[in-house]
Amino acid sequence: MLAFNPQQFRQQFPFFQQQPDWIYLDNAATTHKPQPVLDAISHFYQAANSNVHRGAHRLSQQATVLFEQARADIAQCINARQPTEVIFCSGSTAALNQIAFGLMHGYLKAGDRILLSALEHHANIVPWQLHCQRHGVIIDVIPLTKEHHLDQQAYQQLLTLKPKLVSLTQVSNVLGHITPLPQMLQQAKAVGALTVVDGAQGIVHLGADVQQLDCDFYVFSGHKCYGPTGIGILYGKQAALEQLTPLLGGGEMIAEVSFSHTSFNQLPFRLEAGTPPIAGAIGLASALKFIQSYNKNNIILHKQDLLNEFYQGLKKIPGLDILSSPVHNAGIVSLNVQAEHPSDVASLLDQQYVAVRGGKHCAMPFFDQLALPGAVRFSFAPYNTSADVASSLQALKQAVEILTA
Ligand code: PMP
Repeated sequence: MLAFNPQQFRQQFPFFQQQPDWIYLDNAATTHKPQPVLDAISHFYQAANSNVHRGAHRLSQQATVLFEQARADIAQCINARQPTEVIFCSGSTAALNQIAFGLMHGYLKAGDRILLSALEHHANIVPWQLHCQRHGVIIDVIPLTKEHHLDQQAYQQLLTLKPKLVSLTQVSNVLGHITPLPQMLQQAKAVGALTVVDGAQGIVHLGADVQQLDCDFYVFSGHKCYGPTGIGILYGKQAALEQLTPLLGGGEMIAEVSFSHTSFNQLPFRLEAGTPPIAGAIGLASALKFIQSYNKNNIILHKQDLLNEFYQGLKKIPGLDILSSPVHNAGIVSLNVQAEHPSDVASLLDQQYVAVRGGKHCAMPFFDQLALPGAVRFSFAPYNTSADVASSLQALKQAVEILTA
């Protein structure tokens, strides 16, 4: 395992050589891609490009081996029991839609309750709403404390309503707050609920050990953990995946088709309709192996150092309303500049080559609760440096001076 050296780590990402002016602090939206991931994708297209599973020719067999090896590698990286528990899809959104759709045709029935939290991304709200309303399933929501952490007392109360499913984000994409999943999942299981973890933000910071979490489903997107766009993972325990009705039909997901009946293939193919994202799967496996080649704790410490330096600097800028707490934080700080619109602040930062995001971050219920138009979000990755922190603070200070002059 490599010791963590931020400069060495950063050098693996060609973006920073190509675009040296940018201070990229929009990592919660998407991360840059290291050379090994770019090489893995390029190698597939240059040397082995072919469709998988179907071809009689050797190229197709070679592509199939690479694709299935990617599944096995990803299964190992997230500690799944077997590769068949790893389903390829286009991302966290697709995975959550598949789970919500798939459980409404048997597992969830009219009058059942499910439990989400007030910090969820729309991708972990809307798919449930789409189906719950139609099937008479009730959605309850865990509220927040005044520090914007999940209210654990309220959670205990809501669990007494015996939800059949609890679906939670591992890390808030708005605030960076880390959900205390081990205890919350255990409590959900104690009342017999199926558990879903939205790992879109968590995977890159905390990683996923799905056996240790012991969740029924865990989803994430490749592009937020140094992999390509268009690929994501729906992990499920075998028994949980078997409960899912396929959302999409066609391609490898069938065993037999006639006009009167279709029988489905076995897992994982049953939930992978059409030509799968082959290059994406290979790129994602490479990204997860890249992460695992570094010491996770050292990466976490480096990000915590960056966060501490950033918070220290923020103290010197007047008129800020900081929404994120620096503890149990995966490296995201959302804030506002007095009553200024977050988009105006983000635009002024953009003019100084600081890439952040301003808005509601696909979490409208959270901002509606606070009666805020959104926030400016600074999200850090291990390739960020103390120099990035200093420059972004300087740019923010300048933006505040312009807006409040
Ligand atoms: N959940 C969370 C917590 C996220 O941050 C995101 C992406 N912003 C998603 C789900 C959806 O991910 P994707 O757009 O890659 O499907």
